[in-house]
Amino acid sequence: MVAVRAVCVFCGSSAPADPRYRNEARALAALIARRNLTLVYGGGSTGLMGELADAALAHGARVIGVIPAGLFARELTHTGLTELREVTSMHERKQQMYDLSDGFVALPGGLGTLEELAEVATWSQLGLHSKPVVLLNAGRFWDSLLTQLDLMARTGLLKPASRDLIRQARSAEEALDVLTAAAPGQPEKWITSEER
Ligand code: AMP
Repeated sequence: MVAVRAVCVFCGSSAPADPRYRNEARALAALIARRNLTLVYGGGSTGLMGELADAALAHGARVIGVIPAGLFARELTHTGLTELREVTSMHERKQQMYDLSDGFVALPGGLGTLEELAEVATWSQLGLHSKPVVLLNAGRFWDSLLTQLDLMARTGLLKPASRDLIRQARSAEEALDVLTAAAPGQPEKWITSEER
């Protein structure tokens, strides 16, 4: 039984200078298509988001964008998606993105990406869902966040079980493998900090 059918990806709406982040976004998009998965994302056309969506569409994947009507400028919205869902608020948008997806991958990004990652992991911590969350550490972008999470756990501010809710991967392929292995009904695969 395939437990993962749709993957929600969080990533920057800006274009980073480092080509490793764009390459990993494109690699993830190609793999999502090859594994016959649906991409769910924020519906933008710019930066890493646009790169991800364009590459997924070019490889034949189904791509669903969920965007709050009127919040982002029209020209920043991707007009070529398989499906564009317009919602009334950021809250409704995130709820839809989470409901539509079987797991979450965070590529490099800014505050919006960080917020979505923290929120979806917090909801998992609270038991609101049990869908896996994976940090795709492209170009070691997330190293300092991983160090911070370990510090939170060491100081007792983050329960070890909650720390382990944020899995990590070094490549797009590993991210989808970790996601599939950790999806509900699948055996768990944990990555320890030594393996990082
Ligand atoms: P950031 O990392 O701050 O660039 O924000 C990216 C995240 O916030 C994405 O995963 C989106 O869900 C959301 N977001 C930010 N800007 C836009 C935009 N122009 N269009 C669509 N979604 C956006």
